[in-house]
Amino acid sequence: MNIERNTQIIIYSISYFLKRKIFGQKDPLIGGLVINERCNLNCKQCRVSNRKDIPDLSYMEIRKGLRTLYDRGIRLLYIEGGEPFLWTENKYQLGNIVNLARRMGFLWISIYTNGTFPLDVSADSFFVSLDGLKKTNNELRARGRNIFDKIIRNIQKSSHPNIIINFTINQKNECEIETFCEEMETIKQIKGIFFNFHTPYYGYDELFLDTRAKRPIIRRLLLLKNKYKKILNSKTALENILNNKWERPSDICFIYANNNLYKCCRAIGKSDVCKNCGYLMYAEIENVLKLSRNSIISAINYLPKK
Ligand code: SF4
Ligand code: SF4
Repeated sequence: MNIERNTQIIIYSISYFLKRKIFGQKDPLIGGLVINERCNLNCKQCRVSNRKDIPDLSYMEIRKGLRTLYDRGIRLLYIEGGEPFLWTENKYQLGNIVNLARRMGFLWISIYTNGTFPLDVSADSFFVSLDGLKKTNNELRARGRNIFDKIIRNIQKSSHPNIIINFTINQKNECEIETFCEEMETIKQIKGIFFNFHTPYYGYDELFLDTRAKRPIIRRLLLLKNKYKKILNSKTALENILNNKWERPSDICFIYANNNLYKCCRAIGKSDVCKNCGYLMYAEIENVLKLSRNSIISAINYLPKK
């Protein structure tokens, strides 16, 4: 157990909380770094796969992006793409970026990946996207190609203690949530499942669920939490989402992408998208900052164990 780093994360979070609550400081807590827009999959909800018009950030640009986030006071970082494992530059690979961020002083580094590559860099946690059972996931994320088995194999081969599944709920997969949880319970390498909702970044498509359609699903998740301990969404955050009581856009997170810094995400300013935002992690963090007991317990689950 990495007691020293966990202590630093806890001290950083408490000091952030005090500065925010007592001095009204609005600095971000978490930073996202988008290192590329390329991807080896082609998910229905995404338009970045195989884009050739947006080049990967160079190593020097990544260094600049990390420095920008660090200078904003951010110490909790996630790295994403596209698919971040595809990023290379000469001798540099994703692992070098993680090491660079660590040397710079980031305390917690997470990777968002589609799971089709071995989970072999020294990040503190991996969020692996799976959007349903095998057939549905393959249809939604790879136009029918079987990527599910490969992803599960990569997870099972990994000895990393912090592998979390990111399940984005949409019209096509909401009926599989229960069976999916059942299946993931049997895979010991999976520490938890975090549920998001599909966000209509590109308009109201066949995957979109409106607020009315989301409500019974959130109620199901609240009940399922009693049965499946791997569900990481906290009860308070789910209840707030159910009652549409979560602030968005949020000033808790900044994202560095295409050499620009964005508050919350790149959809900032599109009020209709924000109204239907499905990125539920912000609701979690908001509740941690409100000192909700079960959101804090849920957040502790993300701390590195090694
Ligand atoms: S895995 Fe991620 S980046 Fe790749 S196509 Fe799917 S949503 Fe887009
Ligand atoms: S859609 Fe809006 S609220 Fe959601 S992450 Fe993006 S900017 Fe934030």
